[in-house]
Amino acid sequence: MTQDMLTAPTPSRSSSRRHSPLQDAQMQLESAIHTLGYNSGLHAILSRPRREMTVSIPLRRDDESIEVLTGYRVQHNFSRGPAKGGLRYSPGVDIDEVRALAMWMTWKCALLDVPYGGAKGGITIDPRLYSRGELERVTRRYTSEILPIIGPERDIPAPDIGTDEQTMAWMMDTFSVSAGFTVPGVVTGKPHSVGGSLGRASATSRGVVQIALAAVEHLGLGRVGVSRLTAAVQGFGKVGAGAAAMLADAGVTVVAVSDQYGAVHRASGLDIPALLTHMSETGSVVGFSGGDELEGTALLELDVDVLIPAAVECVINSGNADRVRARVVVEGANGPTTAAADRILADKGVVVVPDILANAGGVVVSYFEWVQGNQAYWWTEKEVNERLSTRMIAAWEQVAQSAAEHKVSLREAATCSAVKRVAQAHLTRGLYP
Ligand code: GLU
Repeated sequence: MTQDMLTAPTPSRSSSRRHSPLQDAQMQLESAIHTLGYNSGLHAILSRPRREMTVSIPLRRDDESIEVLTGYRVQHNFSRGPAKGGLRYSPGVDIDEVRALAMWMTWKCALLDVPYGGAKGGITIDPRLYSRGELERVTRRYTSEILPIIGPERDIPAPDIGTDEQTMAWMMDTFSVSAGFTVPGVVTGKPHSVGGSLGRASATSRGVVQIALAAVEHLGLGRVGVSRLTAAVQGFGKVGAGAAAMLADAGVTVVAVSDQYGAVHRASGLDIPALLTHMSETGSVVGFSGGDELEGTALLELDVDVLIPAAVECVINSGNADRVRARVVVEGANGPTTAAADRILADKGVVVVPDILANAGGVVVSYFEWVQGNQAYWWTEKEVNERLSTRMIAAWEQVAQSAAEHKVSLREAATCSAVKRVAQAHLTRGLYP
């Protein structure tokens, strides 16, 4: 064994993380169990994943060297149906992050009443540092390693941070080649040419904006088209860029957006189509001539009606929550607000629309894609968008009403409602043996 092998860094970075989203997810569950009056046995069942798989992914790089990556698939719950959730490629991925994200998927699917449990996958990799060919080999090897636990009736991956339609096409192909026939239902978020749903790519952003506008109206902050409403969006990726564009289309003044490199600000409103062009030409929002540069984290502290964190977890935390001046925070990302920040925001009167409601549009249309694939009958984009809208608004109304009735936060109301649905399914099925 060489010295290099002895000192090779371990792939999991859990010990060096600044804040574990799993702690927040566990606290949210604990609080819901307490509110609902469930016993410690049920709590123990719901606090642990049903199944987890950690795999080594040997990769032959383009220069013929070999590197071994680590991947995970965590299936948190199956009580209401097959496990469902995205696949993330990011250097910060570790088992605890995947566990938290899998648990949130269970609540998200239950809250929106789509017949799935929750799962999440991840590979500890910075996809920007790898060629397309390398990413294809990583994806195919990862898929083949987790093959025994995925499938249209078992667990259905979808895109998340760092993965896209192409990643899903490679997964679908690898699974199908192994099965000996084409299995479109093994993943969602596929390209349209291989069974993807119309409207899936924009679904998360569409849902975020629908919920944001419903929340603004509910809180009496104003009406789109009648009063001037302002928004700031953190993250200009799949969710954030779409949300910024749809907000602007709806008549909201988007004063700032950011990406991992920096932020741009314009008090009278950014020209989002021009910014999208700048982004596709340069790969970043930085340097856009139609606005002033702003420090990325300062975006979270702007005086706006709506703040949409649409990047990663834990960005609103105990270190900056007291400086948040938005009236409403709509969580486009999963877990952007820590539990400590939640309490600070509540004390300040800032309303937080939780991730499991706000960003559920993606998994709702994933469900539509799976339904269409199973029936081999395709809906128009209009049908997809209308059905999405109906479900998002129904979930919003149910959560807002329950929060008002029980005098709790939207997150507590949403989590309680979801946990109750999962618990009821579990208790009805009974414990085997
Ligand atoms: N990754 C997305 C999420 O966090 C979508 C999951 C899915 O469609 O299965 O909700």
